[in-house]
Amino acid sequence: MTSIRSTAAELVQALADGSTTSVELTQLHLDRIAAVDTTADGRGVHAFLHVDGEGALAQAAESDVRRARGEVRGPLDGVPIAVKDVLTTRGLPTTCGSKILEGWIPPYDATVVARLRAAGLPILGKTNMDEFAMGSSTEHSAYGPTRNPWDLDRIPGGSGGGSAAAVAAFEAPLAIGTDTGGSIRQPGAVTGTVGVKPTYGGVSRYGLVALANSLDQAGPVTRTVLDAAMLHDLIGGHDPRDSTSIQQAWPSFTEAAKAGATGDMSGVKVGVITELAGEGWQAGVMARFQESVDLLVKAGAEVVEVSCPSFVHALAAYYLILPAEASSNLAKFDAMRYGLRVVPDGDPSAEEVMRATRDAGFGDEVKRRIILGTYALSSGYYDAYYGQAQKIRTLISRDFEAAFASVDVLVSPTAPTTAFKLGEKLDDPMAMYLNDLATIPANLAGVPGISVPNGLADEDGLPSGFQVLAPALADDRVYRVGAALEAMYAEQWGGPLLDRAPGLETE
Ligand code: GLN
Repeated sequence: MTSIRSTAAELVQALADGSTTSVELTQLHLDRIAAVDTTADGRGVHAFLHVDGEGALAQAAESDVRRARGEVRGPLDGVPIAVKDVLTTRGLPTTCGSKILEGWIPPYDATVVARLRAAGLPILGKTNMDEFAMGSSTEHSAYGPTRNPWDLDRIPGGSGGGSAAAVAAFEAPLAIGTDTGGSIRQPGAVTGTVGVKPTYGGVSRYGLVALANSLDQAGPVTRTVLDAAMLHDLIGGHDPRDSTSIQQAWPSFTEAAKAGATGDMSGVKVGVITELAGEGWQAGVMARFQESVDLLVKAGAEVVEVSCPSFVHALAAYYLILPAEASSNLAKFDAMRYGLRVVPDGDPSAEEVMRATRDAGFGDEVKRRIILGTYALSSGYYDAYYGQAQKIRTLISRDFEAAFASVDVLVSPTAPTTAFKLGEKLDDPMAMYLNDLATIPANLAGVPGISVPNGLADEDGLPSGFQVLAPALADDRVYRVGAALEAMYAEQWGGPLLDRAPGLETE
């Protein structure tokens, strides 16, 4: 029997054996969205900015016809999915959570979206996010925050809180997120879902509206490691339209996840990162982390502690490099080409139209980063700020190289705390930035990472995540170790962690 709780792998099976149809399960998820996403009391999950029921059902019907004819396009043909609103979708609004793109309908699909369509996955809609992917709580969305299905008064993480909440609230079995400094993994940790940031260049960035080109990477948001692996196999691989796309054949991540699920970690050397623990980390998060490490030891892994001394500077370097790239990327929103256009009274000059449009169209966090980035890049300050940050970036890559010379994977808690209350950190940018302490190093160095749910970490019963990082190109390792941990927890918990989410009635 399929239900909204079925994993994508289960849906694949049910579609294959004829016990459900794509139309049936797409409708099931659309009904769920209608029930929980927007509610009369104003406390809906609000994971979606745009739902495309008609389009999704039409794609589902086509999938069913293909299946009847024996022309299935791949394992996930017919399984619905939600897409973060930072990826362009032909004919569907793409706002990046910003007023400045309100009403913009892209004329083309991002490569990731094109691959989903080509493989037959009905697209349910576009998910909410912090404006231009700047944030850790989805509260910076110009369209209002998303709520965490575990507790509707709490944040679902960010910037991809919409994708994570959609998957956690059973509104979609699969979603796509993007991760520039943690926006797939940190929402995964605080919503009890799985999130993967692939190796930089492993998934095409064509059509991903750039926050910071050298850091951005799209990836899977799911409820299980196997589902993430199947989705990664589908969206990944070389794309001639992205000049940073890696040209190589990738191993099957689905196979890596299946191999890991046997739970045998013998021969795997795991490094615990010294710098990503200690002060500022919630006690429960550290306790769950230690238990996860103990489980890996029990499964046969060898665990050592590894120091990555430059990681303590990662956050500072990131908040120079990211704003520098973002300030240049956002210059294209000039009131002439896309979306919003505010024309002041009188006979305004082009510059006045631009100024009025940006003033009305960009939120505070976006403006803050444009100012920061422009300053860091200005002549006279370039060497002192941007130049220094790039040097730190190199040191962080070297720390990873040195560490991976002696271990296969590195591990840490994904986020320092469980989900905080809506509003709690909104006026304190620094407190918000600290959420990504553990996830940012991977983006600076381009290495892959996964966050796997590892239990309930505070007195309110909120989830935490376990992060596994691997060398660039070795994404298969994060699936292998992630799946092993997940399998051991499944045995311990006797069912998915999400079954214990109290925030929503789940049927
Ligand atoms: N929270 C981080 C930031 O605000 C990461 C964002 C992201 O990964 N898109 O920049």
